[in-house]
Amino acid sequence: MADNVSALPFFYGNITREEAEVYLRQAGMNNGLYLLRQSRNYLGGFALSVSNSGRFYHYTIERQPNEMYAIAGGKSHRCPTDVIDYHSQEMDGLVCLLKKPCNRPKNMQPKVGPFEDLKERLIREYVKQTWKLQGPALEQAIISQRPQLEKLIATTAHEKMPWFHGTITRENSEPRLQNGSRTNGKFLIRQRDQNGSYALCLLHEGQVMHYRIDKDRTGKLSIPDGKKFDTLWQLVEHYSYKPDGLLRVLTEPCPRPDGETVLIGRPVPPWNHPILITKKTAAAGIRTIISKLPIPGTKNPRPPVGPNPYETVERKSSPVHEETSNRMFRSKEAMPMDTEVYESPYADPDELRSSTVDRNQLFLEDGELGSGNFGTVMKGIYKMRKTEKPVAVKILKNDDNNPSVREEMLREANVMQQLDNPYIVRMIGICEAENLMLVMELAELGPLNKFLQKNKNTSVKNITELVHQVSMGMKYLEEHNFVHRDLAARNVLLVTQHYAKISDFGLSKAVAEEQNYYKAKGHGKWPVKWYAPECINYFKFSSKSDVWSFGVLMWEAFSFGQKPYKGMKGNDVMQMLESGKRMEPPVNCPTEMYDLMTTCWTYKVEERPGFAVVEPRLREYYYDIAQ
Ligand code: ATP
Repeated sequence: MADNVSALPFFYGNITREEAEVYLRQAGMNNGLYLLRQSRNYLGGFALSVSNSGRFYHYTIERQPNEMYAIAGGKSHRCPTDVIDYHSQEMDGLVCLLKKPCNRPKNMQPKVGPFEDLKERLIREYVKQTWKLQGPALEQAIISQRPQLEKLIATTAHEKMPWFHGTITRENSEPRLQNGSRTNGKFLIRQRDQNGSYALCLLHEGQVMHYRIDKDRTGKLSIPDGKKFDTLWQLVEHYSYKPDGLLRVLTEPCPRPDGETVLIGRPVPPWNHPILITKKTAAAGIRTIISKLPIPGTKNPRPPVGPNPYETVERKSSPVHEETSNRMFRSKEAMPMDTEVYESPYADPDELRSSTVDRNQLFLEDGELGSGNFGTVMKGIYKMRKTEKPVAVKILKNDDNNPSVREEMLREANVMQQLDNPYIVRMIGICEAENLMLVMELAELGPLNKFLQKNKNTSVKNITELVHQVSMGMKYLEEHNFVHRDLAARNVLLVTQHYAKISDFGLSKAVAEEQNYYKAKGHGKWPVKWYAPECINYFKFSSKSDVWSFGVLMWEAFSFGQKPYKGMKGNDVMQMLESGKRMEPPVNCPTEMYDLMTTCWTYKVEERPGFAVVEPRLREYYYDIAQ
């Protein structure tokens, strides 16, 4: 919740305005006495209740698309508490200045709305159904995509409600309400058309009343001239406690007939073909369909998709109905789970896991993805038993003079083989053929630093999302006692603009659990600007020294791929760090993120946090700005 509002003593959570008035009355109703509560009609919004001259006033604090908060028509602020601070100095349209907070009674926690309770279960069910995930893959998907999933669930949760009957006709809705109990206030909601209009059907004295629910241009839903809501479940919640213009309050949801699947008319795009993004169709071949999709009125067919190379489309023959579980695919930005490289290639038990790749099943494509000391990295296709995977193949150059490069590559393969996490490039296998080849998952958009150098308009939210994913991958490494030793933005590869994976395990080591650090025998060809003081001074590497590197990686990311300590020599950097100085914050870097970087650059290892601390801190900030 914004800026940890739930921790404020005068925040009451999901209470009604009447309940707010009771609390204000109990606290004396002084002029300027106020409390904050969760908005019951705007997602992510709040309501401010104030008493003045014996009366109560309620103001909605809306969350604006630019992630700012404002009382309708008023000045925008970074968080709801800033709105309150401002109005304790300036009336600016309010009935009075905010003078004194009305704190919650002792032992009372902010009230959790019915949706909050449901949300958790719905998200879990949704991820499970849509991506067929379970276990750690499911948990990681929820953690990394929670803001997106919450939004999605909030706007589609009604489809899971017993009172939502989908696209049934007015005639069909009436017998449903007349059957069984005929309690006054029994209700259902049906979908009227594909422009987002619905009808609320309500039983009143034996008769069914039909109220139109329209969607305005900003997407808000309302009964004509009624209060506006972001979601249908908020509308139902509101009219369940207050008639507010209806003949009566909603009492009993009319359940759907047993076993009926809800049919939902999707808004039909102008070219009259709903677009589905599916994981199953994300295989390379399907991508060709994108360019063939005609868009009436345009000469050049343009894919109605985002920057994600795996965001693929499929045309559905019948444009009108889909099952609820397919709801997700209207998403504009494909989530990591939509890509082929979210789950392990061997998650399917029918695919035999092997550490070797048969050369006959590996097809190399023209064009290099990159190169290094060892040789080149090429794109390819690996034909598995059931599917084909696009892969990156690291090909060792034939250099008989340097057998150690071969050993290095085998060591890297050995480490990678033991790792399985959505935010780490997985190894698919080793292929011994004309050259030694390391076959890996493909992360087509390449290194993070280069991507950001070329895409300077990438939002802070997007960068935070990516570095949070890196911290999730690093937390996994820490838990499994591996140190990376070369964590840097150049070694984070992007699958899509919203999906990062850690790569390059050439220097990585498994460490003994009890010792928890690796001691190098001597100084090597090291990326010293990413290294913590103990690595340089004592050759000691641990997850904590990876945390230091992670701080540098964050700095690189928030400065759009600039080089750290630009123009400085390794020795100068060491001196600067020893003297207690650290890099300045990148331009426009959020304070929270710079604070975290400097925490990662804590000199003493014992005082530096591990990824178990860093990841939740990033998560919290990311959820806050991405909500
Ligand atoms: P060295 O082992 O010498 O440090 P390096 O760090 O340059 O080599 P890698 O990072 O393993 O080598 O690979 C070089 C380049 O190849 C990367 O910068 C990236 O552009 C590309 N590349 C590597 N792995 C992948 C992959 N899995 N998917 C897509 N591109 C990749």
